[in-house]
Amino acid sequence: MPRSILLIWDHKVFIDYKSLKYILLRCRILNWTGHYYKMREMKPPLAARLLPAFLMLGPISCHDRIANGSTLPASSRRLPTYSTDGRMPLDQLYSRFASLSTDHGWQTDTVYAYPDDDRLPVLSWRTPLKGKAIWILAGIHGEEPAGPNAIAHTLENISALADAGVPIVLLPMCNPKAYSKNWRYPDTPERDWRKGGHSVGDAEYLLPDLNAGDAPRTPKPAGPDSEALTSYALRLSESYPPLLVLDLHEDELSTEGGYIYFQGSVSKNNPVGSEIIHLLRSSGIPIRLSGKTRFGEPVEDGMVSRDDQGLPIRDGSIDELFASTHVFRNGKKIAGPAAPAVFVVETPAFSGSNLVQRVAAHSAILARVGQLWAIKSAAP
Ligand SMILES: [Zn+2]
Repeated sequence: MPRSILLIWDHKVFIDYKSLKYILLRCRILNWTGHYYKMREMKPPLAARLLPAFLMLGPISCHDRIANGSTLPASSRRLPTYSTDGRMPLDQLYSRFASLSTDHGWQTDTVYAYPDDDRLPVLSWRTPLKGKAIWILAGIHGEEPAGPNAIAHTLENISALADAGVPIVLLPMCNPKAYSKNWRYPDTPERDWRKGGHSVGDAEYLLPDLNAGDAPRTPKPAGPDSEALTSYALRLSESYPPLLVLDLHEDELSTEGGYIYFQGSVSKNNPVGSEIIHLLRSSGIPIRLSGKTRFGEPVEDGMVSRDDQGLPIRDGSIDELFASTHVFRNGKKIAGPAAPAVFVVETPAFSGSNLVQRVAAHSAILARVGQLWAIKSAAP
């Protein structure tokens, strides 16, 4: 008979699914996606109170889907989501992404859960197979819904690549709190980072300073969510070394067209970048072939690979972290993930732009993720 095993510190508990769900919901440990993510973070006294309740129920048959993050009835899903632009509601997104675990055997990690709202965890999915991997991220900025929505539309393409034996780490919704409100940052409606907001992808505390590079760029993380996300990325990069990273963004200030950032070790001849640009154009999205970004970075055939000084892009983001050859951990300089190819896709998301078309643009890339992987693997 299928059983779930819950680990509460050293205690192994067998419990039936319905009883488990009841207890966890009552104790606000389970969220509607079925993830018992708070279990590991419970304070010992609370766990001590709960443990007898678990043990009293004894070993009973249970539904094994709970171990993979099953879903609860629709009535329990009430996640308010900004809807003016027609973005997919958060509960639908969580449910779609959870199918990677329930239907495809991927592993789920809770990267971060907000103490003040446990309905909005930052979750990651990864293939059981480890090794040189493709990493796909989206939703770092909450006002950029096309990436997370496109991943929800193309999960079959992504899981097909996993079935073909390619290790994958997927962080499809890095900032659910801001997505739910159409904010950029998790902690403020203010879009300007100079006015108090922090990006969940800020990795400066792990990156070398821009001078001698002998100290971290900032003394501490920008926020608890950014610390959780970037330290998770760094840790997982050891068992899933990033060979190719796709980070799906949008630019609501760009009215002229989309473009992509490149960070990594390829200097000339960037066939994966060229293919991404080709796929974006084929989807009908306009692309900026020249000129400069609003940060003064030159755009060349849709690609930005140098800053306004002609130096490699060093924006302090999780993308720089993936590409970085050196990082700081606990004050010590160590080798970084050194991903050879990190692409940040930016679709134009100005007011009045069409989200359906922007989702189609990101989907065009994800639908060909196997092809991109093949190109990158052939010439790493
Ligand atoms: Zn962005």
